[in-house]
Amino acid sequence: MPAHPPFPALLAPLRVGAHTLRNRTLMGSMHTGIERLDRSNERLAAFYAERARGGAGLIVTGGFAMNEAAKLDEHGPILVSEAEADALRPIPQAVHAAGGKILLQVLHTGRYGKTPALVGASNIPSPINRRVPRPLETAEVWQTIDDYARCAELAMRAGFDGVEIMGSEGYFLNQFAALRCNNRSDEFGGSVENRHRVAVETVRRTRERLGPAALIMYRISALDLVEGGAPADEVIALARAVEAAGADVINTGFGWHEARIPTIAYMVPRAAFRFAAARIKQALKIPLILSNRINTPEVADEIIAAGDADMVSMARPFLADAAFVNKAAAGRPDAINTCIACNQACLDFIFTSQPTSCLVNPRAGRELEFDEMPASRGRRRVAVVGAGAAGLACAVTAAQRGHAVELFEAGGEIGGQLNLARAVPGKEEFNEMLRYFRTGLADGGVALRLNRRPAAAELACGDYDHVVVATGVRARVPDIPGLDHPKVIGYADLLAGRRKAGRRVAVIGAGGIGFDVAEYLLHEESAQPPNNGHAATGEVGGFFREWGVSTSAEAPGGLAQPVAPRPLRTVTLLQRKPEKPGRTLGLSTGWALRARLEQRGLQTLSGCTYERIDDAGLHLRIEGEPQLLEVDTVVVCAGQESENALAAQLRDLGVAPAVIGGAELAAELDALRAIDQGTRLAMSF
Ligand code: NAP
Ligand code: SF4
Repeated sequence: MPAHPPFPALLAPLRVGAHTLRNRTLMGSMHTGIERLDRSNERLAAFYAERARGGAGLIVTGGFAMNEAAKLDEHGPILVSEAEADALRPIPQAVHAAGGKILLQVLHTGRYGKTPALVGASNIPSPINRRVPRPLETAEVWQTIDDYARCAELAMRAGFDGVEIMGSEGYFLNQFAALRCNNRSDEFGGSVENRHRVAVETVRRTRERLGPAALIMYRISALDLVEGGAPADEVIALARAVEAAGADVINTGFGWHEARIPTIAYMVPRAAFRFAAARIKQALKIPLILSNRINTPEVADEIIAAGDADMVSMARPFLADAAFVNKAAAGRPDAINTCIACNQACLDFIFTSQPTSCLVNPRAGRELEFDEMPASRGRRRVAVVGAGAAGLACAVTAAQRGHAVELFEAGGEIGGQLNLARAVPGKEEFNEMLRYFRTGLADGGVALRLNRRPAAAELACGDYDHVVVATGVRARVPDIPGLDHPKVIGYADLLAGRRKAGRRVAVIGAGGIGFDVAEYLLHEESAQPPNNGHAATGEVGGFFREWGVSTSAEAPGGLAQPVAPRPLRTVTLLQRKPEKPGRTLGLSTGWALRARLEQRGLQTLSGCTYERIDDAGLHLRIEGEPQLLEVDTVVVCAGQESENALAAQLRDLGVAPAVIGGAELAAELDALRAIDQGTRLAMSF
C-alpha cells in the first residue's frame, strides 16, 4: 500500500442506516437487459459480483416493477411473487460472497412505460411516448404504494440488503411531484405536500414493512430540467419529508428522460450538476449521493472532500472497469479503464434491445463468456501491427493474459484515429482511453516500436506465434474535379491541426466524422487543439448557458433561457443521400450533437451531386439544379478504405495473419467494433 492512502475521502467507510459501507462509491442502477436472457440470473450474478470484487461500496440493480402497470415494457423485470424473489437469490448471494452489498431498485415507469396498461398521475402524455396514460384512481394510488412496499419485502426475501425507491428521471413518483403532469384534485394533487404524498407514503410503508435493518435509499430528482419541473425549495421539502419517513440515504438524478438537455452524454462536463446536490445535502441529516458524469477517483474524491456529497454514484464507470475502486485504493488510478460517456454499448444497446456492455470493456455483462486472466495455454509471442484502437486493445489484452507482445506503429505516437477523436471539442474523454492503453502497454511489458513499418518478411521469420494486422484505414478520396485545389483539406489534417479552415466551410460527407468536423469548426477557437484533456471540467458555465440550465434555486426545473454561442464560421455539411443527415449518429447522444450544431448555425444539404471545386467554391447540383457554395475551405470526410496491404504480403509468404479493425473492414468502423475485435482476438490466444 502507498504511504499515504490515496483518495481518503472517497475510500473512507460510511454509516448508512444500520449498514456500514466500506467506501463511498455506489454502482448506480442501470437497465441491463440481461435478466431477459437468463432466467437463472447466473449471468447477472456474475456481472454484479465482479463489481463487488472490484471494491464497489454499494450496488443497485436495474429497476424491478412492483406491479404489471409499472413495467418498462411487456418483458420488463418484475418482482411480485415469492417465486420471483427466490429466483433472484443468486444475485445477492454472489455479491455478498464477494464482500459487497446490493440493493434492488423498485421502479414504476408511469407514463414512460411501453405497455398497453399505461398509468400515471394524470392523462398528460410524455412527449417521448405516444401512449396516453390512464390516471390512477385515488384507491389505486394507495394500492400502488402498498405494491412498492410488498416488492421491497420480496427483495429482502431474496437476500438484498435493501431497496432503492426510484423517484427521479421523470418516472412515476417524479410525475406526481411535478406540476408538469400532475393535475389531480385528490390528496395526491394540488399542494406540494399532496404531490409529495405518494413518495413519502411509499418510503414510510416500506420502512414499516422492512424494519430498521433494511437499507432504504430514495432517488430524488435534484433537477427536473423540464418546463413545469420543481423549483429547489420543493425538491428540498421532498428530501426532508422522505428522510423523516424513514429513508437512510438520498441518491440524486438529473433531468427527466424527456428533457432536451444532455445529462450523461460525453459533452456534459464532469460532475456538472454537483451544485444542485450540495443544496439538498445542506438540508439533510442523512447522507446524500451525487450522480452523473463522475468517472475518475480524482473527481469523486474531490466532491466528497469539498462537502458537496457524502457518496458518489457511478454507473457506467463500473461497466468500464469493474476494479475501479481496487485500482484507486492501490494508488493506480492510471490503470483504470475510464468510461468515456459515449453511451455506445450501454444505453444505445438497451435502446436497441441488446444486453448492456461497454465500448471500452467488451467483457462487461459477458463475464461468463470471457476467459479468466492470465491465459492457461502458455506464453505466446504476438506481433501486433498498428496501434489504433483495435491494435491497442489486442496488445494490452494479450499482455494482460501473460503473452509476450510486440506492437509496431508507423506513426510517432499510439492512438491512430483515436487521436483525431480526442481533438473534437467535447470528446476529451478519449484522452483517458489513450492513457489507459499507454499504462496497459507499460504494465504488460509490451515492446512498443514507434515509427516502424515492419516488412512482411520480418513478421514471417518464425519469431511470432501470432501476427495481427491492425493497420487501420486511409481516407477515401472521392472523384471530384478540383480536389487538388488548395482550399481542399482532408479531415485528418484538419483535426490534427496541420491545416486551418477559413470562415466559410463546406464539409463533404455527413457521417460520424463529418459531424465531428462540423463540431470542431463551429466551436470557439480557444477550445481548439491542443485540448487540455479536461476542457469539459472547466466549462460548466458555458455548458449551462448553451443548454439553458439555471443554478438559481427559484428556477422551476432548473431551467434558464439558452444562449446560443456566436458562430465562428458558416459551415455547410453535405451528403449525396437524399435523407436527413445524422441518422447514423448514436441513439442517445446524436440528438444532443444535432441540437448543439443547429444552435451554432450548421446548415445541411442532402441529395448533393458534387460537380467541381475551384476558386469560386464548391459547385454542386441538388435535384438537378446547379448551386455554388461560396466557401474558403472544403473539408473532405467521405469515409475510409481499409489499409491492409500487409495482410496480403504475409499470406504470400505463407503466414495467416489475423486482420482486425479498419484493416479488416473499413465500413462502419468505430471504436466499439475495433476494441471488441481486438479484445476477443487476444482472448483467443
Ligand atoms: P461514414 O459514416 O461512412 O460516412 C462517410 C460519409 O461520406 C457519408 O456521409 C457518405 O454519404 C459520404 N461518402 C461516401 N463515399 C463518398 C464519395 N465517394 N464521395 C462523396 N461522399 C462520400 O464514415 P465516417 O464519417 O468517416 O466515419 C467512420 C466511422 O466512424 C463510422 O462508422 C462512424 O459511425 C464512426 N464515427 C462515429 C462517430 C460517433 O459520433 N459515434 C464519430 C466519428 C466517427 P453519401 O454517400 O450520402 O454522400
Ligand atoms: Fe461508458 Fe461508453 Fe462504456 Fe457506456 S459504453 S459505460 S458510456 S465507455
